[in-house]
Amino acid sequence: MALNVYRLSILIFVIHIPLVSSSGDWSYTGENGPNHWGSLCRSGSQQSPINIDIGKSKHDQELGQFIFSPDYFNYTFKYNLSNNGHSVMLTPDSSAQLTVSGGGLPGTYRLAQFHFHWGGPSSAGSEHTLNNKQYQAEVHLVHYNLNYDNIGSAATSKDGLAVIGVFLEAGKSVGNVVIEKIANRLSNSCATVLSSNCTIDNMRLIDILPFNHDNYFRYQGSLTTPPCSESVVWTVFQKPISVTKEQLQSFFRIQDSHSHELHNNFRPVQKYKKPVTKSFSSEGSRHVLTISVLAFSSLVALYSAKLF
Ligand SMILES: [Zn+2]
Repeated sequence: MALNVYRLSILIFVIHIPLVSSSGDWSYTGENGPNHWGSLCRSGSQQSPINIDIGKSKHDQELGQFIFSPDYFNYTFKYNLSNNGHSVMLTPDSSAQLTVSGGGLPGTYRLAQFHFHWGGPSSAGSEHTLNNKQYQAEVHLVHYNLNYDNIGSAATSKDGLAVIGVFLEAGKSVGNVVIEKIANRLSNSCATVLSSNCTIDNMRLIDILPFNHDNYFRYQGSLTTPPCSESVVWTVFQKPISVTKEQLQSFFRIQDSHSHELHNNFRPVQKYKKPVTKSFSSEGSRHVLTISVLAFSSLVALYSAKLF
């Protein structure tokens, strides 16, 4: 009898391994890497991230300015910084009413958390690419639609989530004030190992957005991690924020669930055949038009000077 129980235990254990592996154990490398997320991710036609071809994206006049709440724009809050084995995530104090609307969004959305994707010492790591250029890193600000009770129910609806993606460009002498606070914490070993966390005081969220938040791209896509639900209204800002090399390097200290340094935690770009729109008309053509008008004005001035 005891032997039978022992055999049964082994059998359950052997059967159980692949179930655990296929249902929740995913990573960015090896046999649990993005190429093997098939059973974890929906195989829809609106999977993220994507490459954004600026020339092919169409200007949509409905994509106006965003309306950020006063808490987003004017006030500082306390954030919890934590490591989930796939990234580091910052969740705001529950008193913070960090909402965004306008910008062609189908509702008002509240910030739930923001997190990062990065590369390694010699590789870039943004998830979206712009004209096939991959930036060093990317931050995702995840908001849920206030028409839903919570982020869980929002995450299963097409208009449930609004994620703002911002590229990080490293190597500038001037860094970003929000990234500096996070980098300081990471350098002091906060949240560098799985499930560890600490708090960061006095962060103003608007400071992590580029100065120009009027130029952005819009498409309907998905979460970029399992279960890859197609419930995201994506906004990707055209302009990156500048970070210093030291600020970027602080992310390379973060460890995954196997206590290895977590590098290249990005999903490769997915095939996407639906329209990508943008909030601005072609800068190039506007620039050429300005030069043409200036040149014409100069010719008129010269001609007038000769006549009189
Ligand atoms: Zn993300």
